Order: sequence, then C-alpha cells, then structure tokens
Amino acid sequence: MTKLTILCQQSGGCMGCCGHDFISKEKIKEAIVLNNREFEDYSPYTKDNLILFRDRAHKNQLRWGVCLNLIEKDNQIFCPLHPLLNNNVDLRENHCAINHMCKTAQEFETWNKEKQQQFLNLIKEKNMDNLDYSLAIDQEILLKEFKEKISNNK
Ligand code: SF4
Ligand code: SF4
Repeated sequence: MTKLTILCQQSGGCMGCCGHDFISKEKIKEAIVLNNREFEDYSPYTKDNLILFRDRAHKNQLRWGVCLNLIEKDNQIFCPLHPLLNNNVDLRENHCAINHMCKTAQEFETWNKEKQQQFLNLIKEKNMDNLDYSLAIDQEILLKEFKEKISNNK
C-alpha cells in the first residue's frame, strides 16, 4: 500500500496496491478468506503475535497476487500492520512499499479541488464494492474513463 490518499479510502477501502497481477475478483476474495483464517490462528492481538503473523511468509510471497497480510472485517478490507491500528508504529516498514502511490492517485494529487471533486463524484456514481473499486483503480479504468469524460465535455 501507500501513504494514505483520499482515494485509498473510497468505496470501502482500496487494496489495489496490496499485491499485483491479480487473477480475478473471486481469487482476491479467496485469498482474503485464507489470510483471515491465518490471522485468527496467530491470535495477533499483541504486537509480537502480529509480527509473527506478518513474518509467517517471505514479504514477496503473494497469494494469487494478493499480499498475505490483507484481511477483512465487517466488510472492510484493511492492513493490520498499518500505523493507525498500531499506536503509530508502522509494522509495514521494510515489508512493503509504504510510500508507493498508484498512477491514479499520483495524477489525482496534481488536480485542483474542482477536478478532484469531479473524480470523486464519478466514483460515487459507480457505487462499486471495494474489490471492483480496487481493480478499477489498479487497472486505471476509472482514470481513463474520467479523462475521456472530461475531453468529451470540452
Ligand atoms: S491503488 Fe492507489 S488508491 Fe488504491 S490503495 Fe493503492 S495508492 Fe491508494
Ligand atoms: S503489508 Fe499491508 S499495506 Fe502492505 S501490501 Fe500488504 S496488506 Fe497492503
């Protein structure tokens, strides 16, 4: 994942950069179910156990393209290593590219407030679930659609 941008928090949370070369939405779901199961096995309610969970596999090992740390609770996909969940200690350090920003987020950050709001409106109109949203961000589908819309309105 990334430095948190507002795009990371839309549509129930984005996991577009928590892995790569995703196979399908179904395979992402399956990976998260297995991650959740392993998460519970480690009872990671202390920092030490959370680190044991994180280090149960090499950091480059993925499950059908999905990071082994990504879990879901109450329909929210999230990273349990994130500093917001760990008293500002970032357990992702040296484990994933915490300063990475996807192309969509990079471009979004260069737009003025009005253009950013138009993009956020487009996301809202789509009413996607978090996996469809993540894939549409990761594959730059929303970005392309938005650019086309803007150039057609000129
Ligand atoms: S793919 Fe982009 S929007 Fe999604 S979490 Fe990563 S940086 Fe944020
Ligand atoms: S460690 Fe966390 S933030 Fe990093 S890729 Fe995995 S799930 Fe995403």
